[in-house]
Amino acid sequence: MAVRLILGLLMTVVCLGIAGRRLFFLVQLGKRFQPLADRQLDTSEAVKAEVSEVAGQRKLLRWTVPGIAHFFVFWGFMVLLFTIVEAFFGLVKADFQIPVLGNYAWFGFFEDLFALLCVAALVVFTILRIQQAPKNLGRKSRFFGSHIGPAWFVLFMIFNVVWTLLAYRGASINAQELHDPANADKMGFLHGAFASQWFASILPKTNLEVWETVFLLLSLAVLLGFTVFVTYSKHMHIFASIPNVAYARRPRALGALEPVYWAGKKIDFEDPGDDDVMGVGKVEDFTWKGLLDFATCTECGRCQSQCPAWNTDKPLSPKVLIMGLRDHALAKAPYIMAAKGEDGEVVTAGLAATAIAEAERPLVGPEGDENASVGEHGIHGTGAIPFDMLWSCTTCGACVEQCPVDIEHVDHIVDMRRYQVLMEGAFPEEAGIMLNNVEHAGDPWGLGRTKRLEWAEELDFEIRVYEGEKIPDDIDYLYWVGCAGALDDTAKKTARAVATLLHEAGVEFMVLGEAESCTGDPARRMGHEFLFQMLAMQNVEVLNEAGAKRIVVTCAHCYNTLANEYPQVGGHYEVVHHTTLLARLVAEKKLTPIQRVDAAVTYHDPCYLGRHNRIFAAPREVLGAVPGARVQEMPRNRERSFCCGAGGARMWMDENLGTRINQNRADEALATTPDIVAAACPFCITMLSDGVAQRQQEGSAAGVQVTDVAEVLLRSVRPDLVDAAAEATA
Ligand code: SF4
Ligand code: SF4
Repeated sequence: MAVRLILGLLMTVVCLGIAGRRLFFLVQLGKRFQPLADRQLDTSEAVKAEVSEVAGQRKLLRWTVPGIAHFFVFWGFMVLLFTIVEAFFGLVKADFQIPVLGNYAWFGFFEDLFALLCVAALVVFTILRIQQAPKNLGRKSRFFGSHIGPAWFVLFMIFNVVWTLLAYRGASINAQELHDPANADKMGFLHGAFASQWFASILPKTNLEVWETVFLLLSLAVLLGFTVFVTYSKHMHIFASIPNVAYARRPRALGALEPVYWAGKKIDFEDPGDDDVMGVGKVEDFTWKGLLDFATCTECGRCQSQCPAWNTDKPLSPKVLIMGLRDHALAKAPYIMAAKGEDGEVVTAGLAATAIAEAERPLVGPEGDENASVGEHGIHGTGAIPFDMLWSCTTCGACVEQCPVDIEHVDHIVDMRRYQVLMEGAFPEEAGIMLNNVEHAGDPWGLGRTKRLEWAEELDFEIRVYEGEKIPDDIDYLYWVGCAGALDDTAKKTARAVATLLHEAGVEFMVLGEAESCTGDPARRMGHEFLFQMLAMQNVEVLNEAGAKRIVVTCAHCYNTLANEYPQVGGHYEVVHHTTLLARLVAEKKLTPIQRVDAAVTYHDPCYLGRHNRIFAAPREVLGAVPGARVQEMPRNRERSFCCGAGGARMWMDENLGTRINQNRADEALATTPDIVAAACPFCITMLSDGVAQRQQEGSAAGVQVTDVAEVLLRSVRPDLVDAAAEATA
């Protein structure tokens, strides 16, 4: 007993000391990062999230096979905690058993069952990792870019933890039962421990206590060694995911972007402080939650597998980006932690050259960096994050949606863009035209306010236009037409369809006309927070002066900005997307679809309507109400919808790298052999129309139309208008 106690305690102290030192270091590093402003821990929400996401493995279970396998590894480990407690107490008391539970054979059975389920899950993981290995699938593998060797080592170590614990219990059965049969009854749980019993049956029946000591120390050595490894590897998520989930943005890090903070305070863009840093220019400009995100990434690649940029061969994988930020933060850590001299500069004497070199490396590399690459072995280049990696993001949120540990990729990407745009003036040149137009003309095309009512000229009824007075009480909705609805020829048709349907349903509405301007969405997603704030405050002033309460919008981006972001600048309205309102009007029989529209209709979920705002049902209800319309789905739909390529201000940037995102999505839609591809956002419609038109030029997809959900409904509610339009075109 003395030997096992001394060796066991020695191992425990050494290993827990090393692991604790590492955790202490990471906590100290986190303290050098920015504070997490305006996000307090909401205990009840945090508990719910822990129950659902950590204990229930909710997000992991969306992927059935690996999800179930992970569920059993997680719960196998939870149950194994009892056996681990038994092992530690076994150092001092050979016949130790867990109080109360340890009396029962079923408890031993339960422990061994979960241990074996854990091993079965490891077999599943092994098969998946072989099938989906990057060497077999290349970039299509979700493990491409992950640390493959350490992942295999972890599977091996978990297996070792399980079998050594069972072997120790087997040796313990022999030692206790054979030594003194009365002990067997005291440790009742061992009767049901069928796997441990099997180990007992194959172990030698001599030197019983020696075998017990050997396996006890072996199991503890494996467990403690694994613990040390975990704190230095991607399996840090075992510890980090719990606080990361607790402090995550709720209900999810989608929808609104957060304001820009510096030193824990929201930056006042009308009067910024001299020392305010706008956005993230150095890795330590992220908040400590950012660092926790980086440490929590499991490298599972779920985000990467759904990312439109990655799936079209661009140099952006959200997983590799997070791993790159983690690697950079850890490599730079000695510099970040180093003391500062009286001049406020970091004292570099005694620092490793690698840390100094990493500190000198820019967070975001320069445009056109020939050294930049994102490959199987991570990121290379002048900057920790290559320029093209940062600007390939459409902010579609597929990564955030998939991430099982609530990492906030979009926020981090936009924070880095903010610094690039506001502090460095570095962004894709062509996007500057859009920013200039938005700033000076109030719309991305630079067409100007005077054209904002032309869309309504073809209507066969008068629309009411805001002229500076309060919105009258009989107005049900202010109709926010949006830049596209007012100025883009295709989107104007949607604007007219929505106006006509509202008129048909007897809904009184008014438009702002020349008083409306861009919501600022593309500027904000690009990182130009200053311009966004300017536009948002201007629009909110108009809306508040007009006394707007209920607003209907036809653009998914306008919807997101008005509903989720304008409250940040004092604009609080009840905002409804046109598909939600139309679905309600149909349900209330204020709109009656009468004409059959015999067509296969494939619906595309716009990211900013679906994933960002959870509006999945309404557009489908509208289409489903149209007689004859056969609504069909693409393989990637609802939460897993694939971006059209327009979000994140990508609409206004060249797409020179890889293949085209809109073509990828259009081809997926065309594979369903539709007559109509329907969407509920003007930017999606533009992108999908271009993709379908490309295939039509090549001789396929004949007759396929791309249109808004509202226009499909209009064909059924007012077929006369569609016929008249067709005649006019002929
Ligand atoms: S937001 Fe979309 S495009 Fe950007 S990294 Fe995530 S999945 Fe990729
Ligand atoms: S960011 Fe999330 S989804 Fe992506 S690899 Fe890491 S843990 Fe997995």
